[in-house]
Amino acid sequence: MEESIYNIDKNGFYGTFGGAFIPEMLQPNVDELLGSYHRIMDEPGFKKELRILLTDFAGRPSPLYFAPRLSAHYKSNIFLKREDLNHTGSHKINNALGQILLAERLGKKRIIAETGAGQHGVATATVCALKGLECIVYMGATDVERQAPNVARMRMLGAKVVPVTSGNKTLKDATNEAIRDWISNPTDTHYIIGSVVGPHPYPDLVARFQSIISEEMLEQLTEKIGRPYPDAIIACVGGGSNAAGAFYHYINNPEVKLYGAEGAGKGADTPETAATMAVGSTGILHGSKILLMQDEYGQITEPYSISAGLDYPGVGPLHSHLHATGRVNYLPVTDTEALGAALQLTRLEGIIPALESSHALAVLNKISLTPDMNVVINLSGRGDKDMDTYTSYFGFDNE
Ligand SMILES: *Cc1c(COP(=O)(O)O)cnc(C)c1O
Repeated sequence: MEESIYNIDKNGFYGTFGGAFIPEMLQPNVDELLGSYHRIMDEPGFKKELRILLTDFAGRPSPLYFAPRLSAHYKSNIFLKREDLNHTGSHKINNALGQILLAERLGKKRIIAETGAGQHGVATATVCALKGLECIVYMGATDVERQAPNVARMRMLGAKVVPVTSGNKTLKDATNEAIRDWISNPTDTHYIIGSVVGPHPYPDLVARFQSIISEEMLEQLTEKIGRPYPDAIIACVGGGSNAAGAFYHYINNPEVKLYGAEGAGKGADTPETAATMAVGSTGILHGSKILLMQDEYGQITEPYSISAGLDYPGVGPLHSHLHATGRVNYLPVTDTEALGAALQLTRLEGIIPALESSHALAVLNKISLTPDMNVVINLSGRGDKDMDTYTSYFGFDNE
């Protein structure tokens, strides 16, 4: 397999971040994955089956859409990479498809996952139905209540959704429960992690599965603007997988400016925030050394963002590293700014974006744009799941 473009070392470190800080009992599971993922992902049969599923099942390539009215408004050339048009509504299916094929080749019969908002749970339940594999999704009890439509989707797809009642009953607690399950079921179970987080090799393999996003952009930009690279790429960052995929093939091209949008919640200077880059410090969470939000005693502080997909107390090791090196500029975006950007895109282009993606759109107001620039925004998902939030904020009525 090719070297990772993100310069990961053999122990899974991106600079000083990453690694695999795991309990001894998890070592065999992680070692099995580590010892086989390069070989499996290089198999022509694996590549072919993944390519066919990405095309015929997920609907790839996702279009690169030149947004004319948004461009006119910002007096620049703005393109949207339409991950919102994928099957199940976001980029998460790219990784779920890759990992289910990996699990199948490792002979696994049982799939576990954890989910916060439910988008990764839905993608995982979808690929398990596709392959006829047992699926167990751990979800904080609070999230099970908050995300009822996604819970119903997972159950209709045949997954067992297990509400987790420990701790704050949210994503962090669901993750602990999934890890416990994996330790108890080391031989027949694969754990599908949904972002570029967790112990090595997860951040690397998830980034590789998401790199299809920028791989397609190379060709699509060549066709549309006559060169394979834009002047800037903007993506939102929860754990960081859609951004990792959108940046992947451009990371070593210094002509491409890269921007990550974090969920700042009520503001990066308030306690109600998820802006890890702005307020975080180094620590270990979910098996990896990363930037995370913690108090003076090293206790994880509860993150807050209006967007459930950005409501994570850390950020994956590759983004922690790209922040440290300055290659990517990470900007905090508040709830209010994201909501404004969502309505703006909807009214200018007829596209209702996911709340997560709206954070990336809001960055257009924070950087300087010129008429000769070509800017790509990774539109990571669609807004169907966020209609309750949009409706209660805007109180839509006939205009
Ligand atoms: C899950 C999700 C995100 C955040 O996850 P990343 O791993 O940072 O990409 C962003 N957008 C959408 C639509 C999501 O569902």
